[in-house]
Amino acid sequence: MCSQTFTNRATLLRHYAAKHQEPLFNFKCDKCSIFFKTKWSLSTHKSKYHRD
Ligand SMILES: [Zn+2]
Ligand SMILES: [Zn+2]
Repeated sequence: MCSQTFTNRATLLRHYAAKHQEPLFNFKCDKCSIFFKTKWSLSTHKSKYHRD
């Protein structure tokens, strides 16, 4: 990751998409294709939205 600082998350994501090829969010929900930064946030999402 570069040493630039970002004022907010949207700016960071835009920079990342433009300048870096590697994905920032590596954990993808297989039900709705949303990406998450951590395994924990993905499992939280799943338990919240995909309980079955
Ligand atoms: Zn960068
Ligand atoms: Zn989902």
